[in-house]
Amino acid sequence: MNLERRAVRKPKGRKPSTGYWISLVVLSLLVCAAVIVWFPSPVKAPDGSGSALTSEPTGESASPQAEVKKRELLDFHMDSLTQGWARYTDGTMKTTDGGLHWVATASDTTLPAPTSTPLDVNDETVSWMSGKEQNPLVIYVQAGEYKVRKSQFLTRNVGWVQLEDGANTEAPLWVTVDGGMTWHPTVTADLAKEMDAERARLKAASKEASFYTEPDTAQKVMESEWTILPESASPGDVVLVRHGQQGEVTWEGKTYKLEPFGAGYFTYIPLSLGIKPGSYPIGDRTLTIKSKKFETQYLQVTKQMESMKQDEKRIAEDQKKIDKARSKSQGEFLFQTNFIKPIEGILTTPYGYTRYVNGKWDNSHRAVDLAAKEGTPIKATNDGIVVLAETLYLTGNSIYIDHGMGLFSQYAHLSKLHVKAGDHVKQGDIIGLVGTTGFSTGPHLHFTFWAHNVPVNPDLFFNTTPFHWLSIENNALPQ
Ligand SMILES: [Zn+2]
Repeated sequence: MNLERRAVRKPKGRKPSTGYWISLVVLSLLVCAAVIVWFPSPVKAPDGSGSALTSEPTGESASPQAEVKKRELLDFHMDSLTQGWARYTDGTMKTTDGGLHWVATASDTTLPAPTSTPLDVNDETVSWMSGKEQNPLVIYVQAGEYKVRKSQFLTRNVGWVQLEDGANTEAPLWVTVDGGMTWHPTVTADLAKEMDAERARLKAASKEASFYTEPDTAQKVMESEWTILPESASPGDVVLVRHGQQGEVTWEGKTYKLEPFGAGYFTYIPLSLGIKPGSYPIGDRTLTIKSKKFETQYLQVTKQMESMKQDEKRIAEDQKKIDKARSKSQGEFLFQTNFIKPIEGILTTPYGYTRYVNGKWDNSHRAVDLAAKEGTPIKATNDGIVVLAETLYLTGNSIYIDHGMGLFSQYAHLSKLHVKAGDHVKQGDIIGLVGTTGFSTGPHLHFTFWAHNVPVNPDLFFNTTPFHWLSIENNALPQ
């Protein structure tokens, strides 16, 4: 009976068995475990890196759900291509490598004060290379358009923007290195390299700009493909050619390699005395050569002096020394300021005079003769390196100074030498004294400028430099 009743009641019974409870507990534990596995604790930003400025580029793999709560950026300023700061509601960060890395500053009191020099090079002469006039109101990233709250271009190419609503994008501060054509959410190593290159360009331009008279002239030259300084010259002159890229210039059958200096490539081009007047193209510019008449000079010397020129062996030996000294020139312009006259003497023979000695044609005098009292101090025409200082047969005590890029000054017939080969001299240094040694009829200084081993007109250099030879009418800025 009992058994039967129990058997009958069992299906209706609501009381769960022990096994049922065990199953329920096991199932619950499994569900809890699953929940823990599928929903881990929320992602925490590492200390001080809540800003996207410090995070690595997230790229397209970043999940929108995993977005880190961003700190609110209040303001930023880049003092240079390396130094800058960004201020948040909860602190300030600074960078010393153009934004590749940002570090929290100790407190607001150590906030670096913004400086007024946007360029790394503290030089007004390249202010035209700054991007201060670039103030975009929006930037375009892929198909999106983002409103700009604050922008700062340090150069024409490199700029930063703080967006109105940084939360819409990966980072509140975006950077460009191509003048705003493309924008990036972080400074990657590649972008930092571009900034380094920009800094190098600024330094090169600044170095070159200091050689011109005005920043406007420097800008004009540096924005041109080719520049001829000056664009109008005479036979026997020298011109300085500048090109924006490396290359060479062929002139009167000779090829001159353009040497790098500053932001461009340069070479001196000596014009022969016999070159015909006319227009000659150099790159995309034209060199105009005007006609020039050279006078004739008749010189009487003693028979003994006249015979000096017949000692061809000694003359050839000297020439070897001179050629060797002039064979190497520094690969940059060694001067900073104007060339000066080495002495205030009386001009007895100008440059280019056709000379007859004792009635016989001798040569063209491709130097200037300045007569002065024996012992008059001679100044270095400009900064340079002495490459030869010794007694030669025809020119007596002689000095050659290298001014760089193939330009040398020569001083002849000195009574005394005050320098030796290898000496670095400054403009105005006393390098020797006036004399009448060698083939000379009286105390004077025979002074020559050599450009690529061609003697050129010294008058072009006095109280100026080749960088100042750009004529005023050609000085207008390019459109
Ligand atoms: Zn002379």
